[in-house]
Amino acid sequence: MAKKLKTLRCPTCKTIVLASGEDFPFCSDRCRRIDLGKWASGGYVISSPIHDPELLDELDGLRDRGTSSSSGTSGDGE
Ligand SMILES: [Zn+2]
Repeated sequence: MAKKLKTLRCPTCKTIVLASGEDFPFCSDRCRRIDLGKWASGGYVISSPIHDPELLDELDGLRDRGTSSSSGTSGDGE
């Protein structure tokens, strides 16, 4: 399981790249530029987090319940 050298394949041309490489994880500056171009042109799809308003509402309700129950113990005078 223990490897002496960490290797990865260049995302652009699938050439094996050493982790110590100057352009890691790409094999060259050219491949890095190509990959960046793919990102810019929407070649990769980035999944966005799901925003569920109902879930947020539920969390808000839980927080409300917590504060109202703790406010009954304010007899310290501080
Ligand atoms: Zn490459």
